[in-house]
Amino acid sequence: MANPTNILLLEVGFIAHEEVGYSRTFDFEFPQLVLGDDLVLDHLSGEIEFSRTSEGVLAQAEFNATTKVTCGRCLGKVSQPLESHFSDLFTLPYRADKDTELILPHNGKIDFAPILREYMLLEMPINSLCRPDCQGLCPACGVNRNQESCDCVIEAADPRLSMLKSLLEDGE
Ligand SMILES: [Zn+2]
Ligand SMILES: [Zn+2]
Repeated sequence: MANPTNILLLEVGFIAHEEVGYSRTFDFEFPQLVLGDDLVLDHLSGEIEFSRTSEGVLAQAEFNATTKVTCGRCLGKVSQPLESHFSDLFTLPYRADKDTELILPHNGKIDFAPILREYMLLEMPINSLCRPDCQGLCPACGVNRNQESCDCVIEAADPRLSMLKSLLEDGE
């Protein structure tokens, strides 16, 4: 489970010294990559193509992985596929101005871990379901209705009915 934190620290400075049009692809394959407490990627594979452009180094990335998430209805664990394609331009330091978002570091090393983390988090669904027709948990006894059935009678949600019911019960 231990991951060296610099596993995605890429040495790309040499590309800045190449001709415009030069490109180099890095391939990645990790059984598991931990990108923080809330993001563990399993079966991660991907590639980043770095190309020298007139402004700097363009990274075009493609990553696939799965991650474990919790089903919003039954709280079971779900393996969620994640796929991300993105590109970022790392501007050469001397070409950068105050509006430049990403600048190629002077040491030529780019840490892709936080970048990949950010893009993968964007791919996370807001509400995951283990299957589209997940029956969820019984609100009364808590059994997983996908696996077991129970005899709970779920009270009508209408507050007027429950008020009437409690009035009737009080009168008994
Ligand atoms: Zn579920
Ligand atoms: Zn029940």
